[in-house]
Amino acid sequence: MKIGVLNIQGDVSEHFQMIMHLHKKYNVDPVNVKTIENLHGLSGLIIPGGESTVIYKILKKSGMYEKIYEMAVSGMPVMGTCAGAILISRDTGDNRVNGMNLIDITIKRNAYGRQINSFIQSINIEDIGNFNAVFIRAPGIESPGNSMIMATVNGSPVIVRENNILAMTFHPELTGDNRIHEYFVSMIDN
Ligand code: GLN
Repeated sequence: MKIGVLNIQGDVSEHFQMIMHLHKKYNVDPVNVKTIENLHGLSGLIIPGGESTVIYKILKKSGMYEKIYEMAVSGMPVMGTCAGAILISRDTGDNRVNGMNLIDITIKRNAYGRQINSFIQSINIEDIGNFNAVFIRAPGIESPGNSMIMATVNGSPVIVRENNILAMTFHPELTGDNRIHEYFVSMIDN
């Protein structure tokens, strides 16, 4: 199975590594997604963190925005982390980034403040367990809508799932713990 990692900008290589580590167990291979052609034949897609306004512009310009939407609506699992969660949300409250509305969340960019307000927190994730979550200029999920809340920080959801779509406001690729990636791969299997 091919799992795409959107490679426009942001922390792409760490997600790539995570999927490579799961190769033996699940027969998954990461694919660098830079163009619309690279989306062809994927079983799942990871949209990494970075700067959502920049990623949004390039997704739109290349036609990948519409193509990803189409594939996700047809059932392809998508995991959005941090900026990636902003891009797949229903409402970003920021007219420079229109969410794809793949998951029914409203999200606020930079909800915890600036880079200096980044933090690491241990969270307890439904079906996964305790996880050290790295928040970097993280967005905040203001309303989970119809999505299932899998963990919260101070009462606010930080990882949510709706059917084939998984969104989190932190960076699961930075701690060397690949259980969230493994969970995502299991969404493809099922
Ligand atoms: N603050 C960034 C944005 O709004 C997201 C930060 C991140 O992905 N680490 O796009």
